[in-house]
Amino acid sequence: MSSAAYDWLHQSLNTIHKAHWHRSVRSLDGMAGPVMTCDGKPVVNFASNDYLGLAGDPRLAAAAIAAIQTYGTGSTGSRLLSGHRDLHRQLEQAITNWKGTEDAIVFSSGYLANIGTISALMGSRDLILADQYNHSSLISGAKLSGATVQTYQHGDVADLQRQLEQQRSRYRRCLIVTDSVFSMDGDLCPLPEILDLADHYDCMVMVDEAHGTGILGTNGSGAVEYLGCRDRPLIQMGTLSKALGSLGGYVTGAAHLIDYLRNRAPSWIYTTGLTPADTAAALAAIHIVQTEPQRRDRLWQNVRQLQRSLQTLIAESTTNCFTSLLPSDSPILCIEVPDAATVMHLGQRLTGSGFLVSAVRPPTVPTSRLRLTVMATHEPSHIQQLVEVLGRLAIAGLPAT
Ligand SMILES: *Cc1c(COP(=O)(O)O)cnc(C)c1O
Repeated sequence: MSSAAYDWLHQSLNTIHKAHWHRSVRSLDGMAGPVMTCDGKPVVNFASNDYLGLAGDPRLAAAAIAAIQTYGTGSTGSRLLSGHRDLHRQLEQAITNWKGTEDAIVFSSGYLANIGTISALMGSRDLILADQYNHSSLISGAKLSGATVQTYQHGDVADLQRQLEQQRSRYRRCLIVTDSVFSMDGDLCPLPEILDLADHYDCMVMVDEAHGTGILGTNGSGAVEYLGCRDRPLIQMGTLSKALGSLGGYVTGAAHLIDYLRNRAPSWIYTTGLTPADTAAALAAIHIVQTEPQRRDRLWQNVRQLQRSLQTLIAESTTNCFTSLLPSDSPILCIEVPDAATVMHLGQRLTGSGFLVSAVRPPTVPTSRLRLTVMATHEPSHIQQLVEVLGRLAIAGLPAT
């Protein structure tokens, strides 16, 4: 590209570099699991969303292979034209049964589920109230809908109520939208209180269970189950791409909601149906989640072991390398650090020591942090070794700048 019209890209990239915001990909090799290979060396993976270790499970692979042999690799069309298979319906029914809802619709990703659903439900005469830490796909969906979008303070029901009191009557429909488990913090939204407000102010509520599905609740169906809200009117969204080890997204709730989305959600209508392999893998995963609660028990044992060790480490640390451990009710544990340069330095040191940990910085999050995700398939020794390495880094302190 030689045209001067593209020169601004260099300037923009320079700005990104100067702020330590530049990102690039890194290749992880080998079968998905707690130990993978990075640059030819083994690394213990504390950066995966594969919480139950299902992405490398041979039963999911067998289901995907069987689906390819039966149907082929692509679903060859959009669901309303030629892309609908019986497998899609089986998956939607499995989600419905698991969640105790009336119907479900599967999208080709969680991102597409969010932008399609919010933009179908809301329009220019409507109000969306969104937690300030909501996932990017919820923010994009809200913008795309053309509705007025306002954020409330993270998890702050009083702030939400204040905004409803002041604004609700000026709009036709109102949607309150929130992550159930916040993806970059690991804490839970106050769903019962949000639902009470929604009742009082005549609002719909949409909850994003990307990090709750498969993990929380007696049946692992998510935070809605865990928080006792299964019988409340609610739009539940989730992904097949995290604890379920496949790819895709879903929305579940009342039958007329789902029927409406099949008729109005552009990111479902105008895109190719989920592949047979992904569909079959997700279906196998839901079966495993329902029949093997011991995976969830292992996951929570690991979470508690790491959480306790990190609390001790940070309490006893005399350097200012780790500011705090953020409150969490999930396998997502975040250690706050002073700034972006420090978090990048720590991330590289951890990789060098054989531990893959996400270094997350602004603009993704307000404050820089190491984001650790725990898997059911981590060995206790993986967790012990990680904590030892973090302890050595804390003693070494901040890099000289
Ligand atoms: C990952 C994620 C999504 C998107 O799901 P994909 O299936 O990966 O597209 C949506 N919401 C939240 C909170 C997420 O963490």
